[in-house]
Amino acid sequence: MNQYDSNRIYDLVDKIDYQKTNNLKDVNCYVLNTCHIREKATEKVYHDVGRIKKEFKNKKKPIVIVTGCVAQAEGEILLNREKYIDAVVGPQSYHKLNQTIIDIERKNKKINSTQFNVVEKFDNLNITKNSDSNVSSFLTIQEGCNKFCKFCVVPYTRGPEFSRSIDELINETLNLVKNGTREINLLGQNVNAYCYNGKRLSHLIEEISKIDKIKRIRYTTSHPIDFSEDLIEAHKKVTKLMPLIHLPVQSGSDKILKKMNRKHSIKYYLDLIKKLKLVNSRIEFSSDFIIGYPGETDQDFLNTIKLLKEIGYINTYSFIFSPRPGTPAAKMKKIDDYVSKERLFSFQKLAHEIKMKYRKNLLNKKSLVMFENSMNNKNLFFGRDEFSNSVIVESTENLRGKIREVEIVDVNQGTLFGKILENKNKKEFAA
Ligand code: SAM
Ligand code: SF4
Repeated sequence: MNQYDSNRIYDLVDKIDYQKTNNLKDVNCYVLNTCHIREKATEKVYHDVGRIKKEFKNKKKPIVIVTGCVAQAEGEILLNREKYIDAVVGPQSYHKLNQTIIDIERKNKKINSTQFNVVEKFDNLNITKNSDSNVSSFLTIQEGCNKFCKFCVVPYTRGPEFSRSIDELINETLNLVKNGTREINLLGQNVNAYCYNGKRLSHLIEEISKIDKIKRIRYTTSHPIDFSEDLIEAHKKVTKLMPLIHLPVQSGSDKILKKMNRKHSIKYYLDLIKKLKLVNSRIEFSSDFIIGYPGETDQDFLNTIKLLKEIGYINTYSFIFSPRPGTPAAKMKKIDDYVSKERLFSFQKLAHEIKMKYRKNLLNKKSLVMFENSMNNKNLFFGRDEFSNSVIVESTENLRGKIREVEIVDVNQGTLFGKILENKNKKEFAA
């Protein structure tokens, strides 16, 4: 979502004659777009500002603005502790960024803009331009969260659940398509809580799937509790909907799920997976896990390991519990750091084995890959299969934006290597 927000910020500042640069030594305005989900984010801001200060010691000071969830959570504290920062702008106020920059240029004053104006934000932002002509683009459809898991800052930093209108989203998709997008990744902190005038995520997916040039649709991140029957059905009906579902569970222990306020049990989660497999047996799953949550015993951890084995996730994202200031879990008694680290290590070792087994199984098999970029000016092309696995092939044809059938000839933990299968009868997907 931060990547999506950063792209919108680039579109926005274009209006006041700022342009994106990769030359970080010669910058007029720095925007540090931050994430606050785990610790060290705030320290990273101070560290980055220190680096900018050093770089510009003998040059004109650039404008420095902190945006995103660290700005929302820390606000005034950042401005008071680091005088080099000119403004803090929360994730629901960044449509005001141009005025903020102009005010700083003119009056040289400090600005704190951390109100929740999510409706105003989307009303004011220009339609995303996809100026980089990405084949695969993000589209934020929903923001915020009403669930209040006890460990999480999102409800405090991004505010309550908000869904954008279907018309606005279709327009934005059409605009992305004009500039080369062929795959759309629908984003939301609880993307399947999407609801606009009674229309759910499944409806939006069906509407987007009617856009001819959109060939693939993905969405992330789903909450198990918002996985309604119509969304399950969409995985049967909508062929453009890709068969990888990111479905965070956090823990395999009912006791810990309860302590987290996750609102679902392991039985409910397993039943949901069963239902999804029934409508489409090709569906694979990825998940997030928090290891070492307060109160997690050896048995709770073993239950998490059991779940990991049972589902056979093709990808997992696991982190040690990080107490976030202001959340209820931050006040709970932490478990021993050493124990958490040991558990994380054994969890990740097993998750890696499961992932590699899955990947080795792809050897000599066929998959459909949508190509996004050529690499290093060589005849190498990067793309993704239906399960979001990165695939590299060699080709003299420009494959950008095209879908090709590929045979996987080699795998490692990050990449699949393939060769294009010639099929003269295949329908052309050229962009
Ligand atoms: N809404 C999604 C859900 O409920 O599953 C997850 C979105 S959350 C922004 C992304 C992930 O960050 C979570 O799934 C969780 O694993 C991780 N996370 C959030 N707070 C955390 C914390 N305090 N410590 C460690 N991991 C955390
Ligand atoms: Fe955070 Fe997701 Fe829980 Fe909301 S549902 S509080 S975003 S982990």
